[in-house]
Amino acid sequence: MKFKFWGVRGSIPVPGANTVKYGGNTTCIEVRTFADDLIILDAGTGIHAMAQSLVTHLPVKAHILITHTHWDHIQGLPFFLPIFGPGNHVNIYGGLDPVTGQGIDRALSVQLQYSYFPIIEAQLKADIRYHTIKPGEPITIGSATITPIVLSHPVLNFGYRIDDSDGSSLFFTGDYEPAQNPYQAGEPEYNSTQQFIDERLAEVVRTMAGADALIIDSSYTDAEYQQKKGWGHGTYGSSLNLARLANVRKLFLTHHEPTRTDQQLEAIYRAFLNGLDDPDVEIYLAREGDEYGVP
Ligand SMILES: [Zn+2]
Ligand SMILES: [Zn+2]
Repeated sequence: MKFKFWGVRGSIPVPGANTVKYGGNTTCIEVRTFADDLIILDAGTGIHAMAQSLVTHLPVKAHILITHTHWDHIQGLPFFLPIFGPGNHVNIYGGLDPVTGQGIDRALSVQLQYSYFPIIEAQLKADIRYHTIKPGEPITIGSATITPIVLSHPVLNFGYRIDDSDGSSLFFTGDYEPAQNPYQAGEPEYNSTQQFIDERLAEVVRTMAGADALIIDSSYTDAEYQQKKGWGHGTYGSSLNLARLANVRKLFLTHHEPTRTDQQLEAIYRAFLNGLDDPDVEIYLAREGDEYGVP
């Protein structure tokens, strides 16, 4: 399995001289399975450039897995050019929205209204199919099996594990803040809350276990996190902790904080690596345009 980063920012696109090295687009990852099935993880603004790369490979058959419907993960969806072309097949997968009770089809239809976009959904020429999927129920896409699991974030957010028929695997979190116990030890609710948190974490670790690569929301440093608790994002430290618990060898830090310049990003990364003594996990900063293969 191969994967390529087309967007590595969280929250908002940040083009310009300060982000030219790591890129300013929001979340989008292209995955190519062993059988060359095209799976796209999230449809942030990076999907626009990704779509340009497909125009020489028509007709397009694409499977877009949406982790959740925050803007930075769907903003590029109306700009995924294959949706306009007859003969293309675009499958869009995601969870039920617990706020509205509606399926993933709503993610695109709300964007494709004249108030927001010049073309409405009925004008799209491609064969577009929506698949509202359930946590823990695997689906098959070509040679790969995808397992969705709910990860803690202010809205329903699926992490996706992809297992390919050649034995390779990866896990992508979308946005994820590992749960923290809001109570202090000794308070009446502390133990039951901690038990729930521990059980959920064990389930997440089981689903990630042994993946060749973990691509994970690492928006903040551990120091910054003290001011950002409850915002829904992980840290460099929490990401490494998960990689170790799940016995993952390659860790890709992504969803970079949008105010971070390239220089700041590299300085934080270097400082993080300098504080470590664990050679068992290879740690990478996700960068737009970089492509990797696993295993
Ligand atoms: Zn996000
Ligand atoms: Zn989010």
